[in-house]
Amino acid sequence: MRVAGKIAVVSGAAGGIGKAIADRLAAEGATVFAADQVWTEAGSTGGIRTRSLDVARIESWESLAAEVADAGGADILVNNAGTVRNYDGIVDIDLDDYHDIIGINQHGTFYGMRALIPQMRRKGAGSVVNISSIWGHVGAAGVAAYTASKGAVTSMTKNAALTYAADGVRVNSVHPGLIATPMIAAQDDSISQGLIDVTPLGRIGRPEEVANAVLFLASDEASFITGAQLMVDGGFTTG
Ligand code: NAP
Repeated sequence: MRVAGKIAVVSGAAGGIGKAIADRLAAEGATVFAADQVWTEAGSTGGIRTRSLDVARIESWESLAAEVADAGGADILVNNAGTVRNYDGIVDIDLDDYHDIIGINQHGTFYGMRALIPQMRRKGAGSVVNISSIWGHVGAAGVAAYTASKGAVTSMTKNAALTYAADGVRVNSVHPGLIATPMIAAQDDSISQGLIDVTPLGRIGRPEEVANAVLFLASDEASFITGAQLMVDGGFTTG
């Protein structure tokens, strides 16, 4: 029960990495608000409260934050919702796609922190874990909007870590490599195989392996860790 008694919010929690994180936090004793655009109304599954959230809209975050405040206020926020849609470079990318990806990955993370960090400051404690990517740490060709958004997530994490350290709020980023989720199932197999070929551990990761890293950073076991970038990438960024 490593996060017993804590209230956690996880975005993009209907599937993939977000679902694994929500399940792991709940199994370790947290009250979990699992939020996703997939859900149109409030529900509950296995003790987890499922809520509708469009991370790209601040009003949507504010409405969720009000409910979380009524439940006692957030101790843990995991900004996980994300999207990647094409492999275009800067001069080719469709501008609507660009704004959409920046809106979800970058603005969504910003809005999540803006809506919920005040509750942590009032408590004098809290842990934010932002899901960036290996592409928010090293360069990648194509994926112009995705790399821009994940680079911003990495930078915002450090900004928030420094800004709110005095309030007892820790802010860290987790950087998955290739992880077996619906996002990856939708992409061309040759892209995934190319990444596996240059991953030292020689395989794709599991959502639970990312969830374990998030659980650690979210828990009091990481009490002296803030502003860190934790790679969960099979060694991809080591070389
Ligand atoms: P996923 O399987 O596509 O799951 C993402 C979830 O977020 C989906 O349920 C999705 O709903 C939801 N979502 C998308 N836009 C949203 C919005 N505007 N508001 C609320 N929810 C929204 O993706 P994943 O692979 O688990 O990725 C989770 C995170 O890890 C993302 O930030 C991703 O960039 C990052 N990541 C993943 C990998 C990887 O290899 N899988 C690697 C590095 C980083 P829909 O299904 O309706 O879109």
